[in-house]
Amino acid sequence: EEQIEPDPSKKTLVILGTGWGSVSLLKKLDTENYNVVVISPRNFFLFTPLLPSCTTGLIEHRSIMEPIRNILRHKKATVKFFEAEATKIDYEKRVVYISDDSEIKGDVSHTVVPFDMLVVGVGAENATFGIPGVRENSCFLKEVGDAQKIRKRIMDCVETAVFKDQTDEEVKRLLHMVVVGGGPTGVEFAGELQDFFEDDLRKWIPEIQDNFHVTLVEALPNILPMFSKQLIEYTESSFKEEKITIRTKTMVKNVTEKFIEAEVSKPDGTKELEKIPYGLLVWATGNAVRDVVRDLMGQIPAQKDSRRGLAVNEFLVVNGTENIWAVGDCAITNYAPTAQVAGQEGAFLARLFNTMARTEEIESELKKLSVAQSEAKGEDRDRVLDEIKERQRQLRRTKQIGPFQYSHQGSLAYIGKERAVADISWLSGNIASGGTMTYLFWRSAYLSMCFSARNRVLVATDWIKAKIFGRDVSRE
Ligand code: FAD
Ligand code: NAD
Repeated sequence: EEQIEPDPSKKTLVILGTGWGSVSLLKKLDTENYNVVVISPRNFFLFTPLLPSCTTGLIEHRSIMEPIRNILRHKKATVKFFEAEATKIDYEKRVVYISDDSEIKGDVSHTVVPFDMLVVGVGAENATFGIPGVRENSCFLKEVGDAQKIRKRIMDCVETAVFKDQTDEEVKRLLHMVVVGGGPTGVEFAGELQDFFEDDLRKWIPEIQDNFHVTLVEALPNILPMFSKQLIEYTESSFKEEKITIRTKTMVKNVTEKFIEAEVSKPDGTKELEKIPYGLLVWATGNAVRDVVRDLMGQIPAQKDSRRGLAVNEFLVVNGTENIWAVGDCAITNYAPTAQVAGQEGAFLARLFNTMARTEEIESELKKLSVAQSEAKGEDRDRVLDEIKERQRQLRRTKQIGPFQYSHQGSLAYIGKERAVADISWLSGNIASGGTMTYLFWRSAYLSMCFSARNRVLVATDWIKAKIFGRDVSRE
């Protein structure tokens, strides 16, 4: 029989978010030890590495989503899930305020959830650096809705460009696809978009072939700063071949409905403001802190110097607290904000919580035994003493959980034209590679990392479908 109501003898563990960090924690957590409550505005896990492929319809978005209910139903003890946003965490009162933000609301759409232990895994927001016009005019690339919006806009730009009597200048603008941010998100999207043009668009709508153009804009002197010099060069030369323009040392300062204004640093050291017209603008300049996280940081004196997110110790405990942990992009560690890091942090917390529960269980047994010991006599007493020794041994064994250690499996990015770049650290040191073999490795790596067997089949089918029939260009 499944137990539905919370058990008063157990602690309440509240987990915020259903992304890489929280879901990898849930997968490994022994839910029988706590009353587990999961809160997220999104009732599914999203496999973000393949999200850029959804913007062109190469992969259908549902292929990379996994319902959280499907994950939770396999857990041993019931886990409660509330589809809601955590709007405020009250550290003193140990409660989370939650709000149902979806279309359909009941009589109650705001309430509070108390916690004994809290895991914050809410990820990050899109950085805009307060640059005017970004939110109003560009598309981000973080959630399913973003990818769907981009997919619609690409085709809208194309169909509008071929509208009867459109002027040449307007055709050029509408077919100029601008990506801001030369990190992996921007690079992968630019590659996918150029593929879409080469594989399908130019064949289906030949009128656009002289004017369709992808430009990647980056403020720094080079793109992909986290990759080695050799792979940066490989990516840059591959983009050149693919006819994707890279504009480095170009910092966007303002965005309007039809053009961006960027400060371009010239070789002679002077700077010049340039207007760049666009049809589609995708904004991928990295992460910013979410409001709910910033508010929590404000309540904890030990967080006053952190800017980029929650400062945590080596056990991922939020500094200045003893019952709040943070994982993934909202936590500040020595590692980059990646899925790989978030996933390992989540798995670490699961081990930590499983061990903590086991330790508490043995300690309470030991307490009972020491009472029994003082009351027992003769042979009984010897038996109790033996049992105490055995429990103490168990305790020593279980207590050995060291601090979190990240093991880097390598960075991998798709760069278009069936090529990928990879910085892979195996036992022998660093292997940097790029090219078609890397691409095949990239595909198989993602297939094997894909969340469930179901996702794996769906993604493989999407790839085959696109190969045979081309991407679907209908605009929903
Ligand atoms: P997320 O996965 O973003 O999850 C956050 C969760 O919190 C979501 O479920 C969200 O709905 C929920 N949430 C948000 N606000 C609230 C709130 N107020 N209350 C409750 N819940 C909330 N990393 C790699 O290592 N390899 C890659 O190839 C790679 N590719 C990427 C491609 C793209 C397009 C993007 C955008 C990112 C990519 N990343 C990649 C980075 C990776 O996705 C992130 O580092 C990772 O998602 C971080 O995990 P997380 O759990 O912290 O946050
Ligand atoms: P990022 O922070 O890696 O890169 C953002 C880029 O935008 C920077 O190079 C920055 O200089 C540039 N930029 C900022 N402001 C600008 C402006 N005004 N004008 C022009 N350029 C500007 O961001 P991301 O690519 O979204 O990645 C976020 C995180 O997710 C990273 O940790 C990344 O490693 C991870 N990620 C990994 C992969 C992968 O491994 N394949 C894919 C996507 C994301």
